[in-house]
Amino acid sequence: MNEQASLAPVVPQLIGTNLRTRDFRTGSVFFEYYKPKLEYAWDTGKAIGKFLAEMKKGRVAATHCSKCKRTLVPPRIFCEKCFRDIDKWVTLKDTGVIETFSVSFVTWDVKRLEKPQIPAVIAIDGATPGYGFLHLINTKDWKALRVGQRVKAVWKPAHQRKGSITDIKYFEVIE
Ligand SMILES: [Zn+2]
Repeated sequence: MNEQASLAPVVPQLIGTNLRTRDFRTGSVFFEYYKPKLEYAWDTGKAIGKFLAEMKKGRVAATHCSKCKRTLVPPRIFCEKCFRDIDKWVTLKDTGVIETFSVSFVTWDVKRLEKPQIPAVIAIDGATPGYGFLHLINTKDWKALRVGQRVKAVWKPAHQRKGSITDIKYFEVIE
């Protein structure tokens, strides 16, 4: 056997014909235009449903388990530690402490930003430590931002709130 031939790449013989734009224009191939009407709904569940309804009122709702004494936000409907129903709802302040943050100069779809987006995990005052609240920080001086700084929510005006986490526009440093 010829060595040159044995090293030659194997090119498969493709069968079939490529479709061209002309084939669609002239109707020589079968096709159909279809405009789908797709609607989605998301069930928030009891805990997040109430949390979002309270957001619309400008309040941060949390749940409390009296057995392990934990206050959880975002709220759960049962305590996953004690494996029992939570005992009560509580309203927390809209202040807290920055636990961690990131400074991003690109959007989710990789567009450059002059003013960075600053997603942060915030320990809301009154909540059990370790249950951070994910939101955005707004600041004129991102270089001065530090873990441990105190922040406060800046809410949309009441008539613009929709029962969404974005009813809080962002958090701002207060000290
Ligand atoms: Zn518990």
